[in-house]
Amino acid sequence: MRWDGQAIAADDGALPGLERSGLARLGLVRSVRTPEFADVTFHEVMAKSALSKVPAASRMPFGWTVNPYRGCSHACRYCFARPTHEYLDLDAGKDFDSQVVVKMNVDTVLRAELAKPSWRREPVALGTNTDPYQRAEGRYRLMPGIIGALADSGTPFSILTKGTLLRRDLPLIAEAAGRVEVGLGVSLAFADEELQQSVEPGTPTPRARLDLVRAVRAAGLPCGVMVAPVLPWLTDSRDHLRRLLDAIADAGATGVTVVPLHLKPGTREWYLQWLEREHPRAVPGYRRVFARGTYALEAYRQWLWDRVEPLLDERGFGSSGHRARSGATGRFSDELRPHDEGDYPAGALAGMPRDGGGLEVAGAGVDQVLF
Ligand code: SF4
Repeated sequence: MRWDGQAIAADDGALPGLERSGLARLGLVRSVRTPEFADVTFHEVMAKSALSKVPAASRMPFGWTVNPYRGCSHACRYCFARPTHEYLDLDAGKDFDSQVVVKMNVDTVLRAELAKPSWRREPVALGTNTDPYQRAEGRYRLMPGIIGALADSGTPFSILTKGTLLRRDLPLIAEAAGRVEVGLGVSLAFADEELQQSVEPGTPTPRARLDLVRAVRAAGLPCGVMVAPVLPWLTDSRDHLRRLLDAIADAGATGVTVVPLHLKPGTREWYLQWLEREHPRAVPGYRRVFARGTYALEAYRQWLWDRVEPLLDERGFGSSGHRARSGATGRFSDELRPHDEGDYPAGALAGMPRDGGGLEVAGAGVDQVLF
């Protein structure tokens, strides 16, 4: 293994207590740093299982996931998977971005699980927790084995990513799509690179991701786009949404799903730290929109969908109530579903401008916006 000389011994003091940590419980073999990933430590583990059952209560349109990595160097400030790092005795902030768990044997374990007589070939989703095409995948190349195992077993699957490395596996995915149902989605919520780099510093640019959509379509595969998350005050103006949806339509996307920001505990603190530093004038508005916790208030979500729906219709993506259809992929429309009707008091934001004029003033004094 090329990184043998760079392994960190568990007791060398670099990561005190590692041998007793949540990583040890995962089957830690060694921890690795390399100059190519100067800011990231990879924790290589031998996983006991590959398939994760999605709790029925989550209402996801798939029952199973495979996550070859835990943690993600894409480092999105809003990432909802951040709190899962705390189970490993790591923190949900910088550690999530820089301490990445790699399931070295994921394809072998997955093949064994898929071969069991009890496996019912239910759809499996990749990229719903951490990104399978984050930078680490360029080195570890776990996805080809996973795709092969799923296709060989007759299991339909979907992949959602921000990583342009997906291109590498397009021939393999196209081949798999001849045998099982495959859904591909690219996540892109920003038209402007400056804001994207600030919020998602480890991700490919919007232009690169639009080119990825084009590459997927050129390979003869449908490609949905997740416009997720839409950030209050920062990306919810009509102008931004128009420019983004125009670019997505131009790239040939076959479906679009729009999801407003939600902020779980753990993620919330990390995101709001960034917001305080970069956009302090937006903070009072966020306090109101997220006054009840994880999800934006129903009044905001309704306001956003009222704005988004005609924009989707105009571009041929169609919409239905609060949900955008995801076109040919048909897999992403319920993901991250923000609907928890009843969680919010009726009329919590009564008086919010229904024509959307109020939130257009981002940059012109958001603290003066009256809901
Ligand atoms: S790419 Fe996805 S998994 Fe990775 S940090 Fe961003 S939101 Fe989280």
